Amino acid sequence: MDTSKVKCIIEANLDHLKKKFGLQNWDIDITYGNCDGDPALSMCDVDYKIIEITIDLVHIDDEAEVLHALRHELVHGLIASFHTYRESVKCFLTDKEINSTNVNYRRAEEEVVCAFVRILERKNEN
Ligand SMILES: [Zn+2]
Repeated sequence: MDTSKVKCIIEANLDHLKKKFGLQNWDIDITYGNCDGDPALSMCDVDYKIIEITIDLVHIDDEAEVLHALRHELVHGLIASFHTYRESVKCFLTDKEINSTNVNYRRAEEEVVCAFVRILERKNEN
């Protein structure tokens, strides 16, 4: 999808989504580039309230996909405190334990993020 169209979609929706997610005081930085096959990825800094989102234009075809990717990465921001906690307890674990928990943590994080996004994107349901 064309970068200028994606930028327009983001510009038209980001403030509303930040408010909806309670992230009004966060800086959301959007860049464009390769996301290793995913439509988007993000890095969150809870201490500085920054979410850096990268969007891969090759894997985004329309407005719905832009908004889906944006919601997905903002939910990652909402639960980034769990990542901060995980990082703080790493010093008590062996490398093998860290590797094992990383795999399970990433899977659990994606499952939770996807569940929240599904709930957010449901329309006309109770
Ligand atoms: Zn994700």
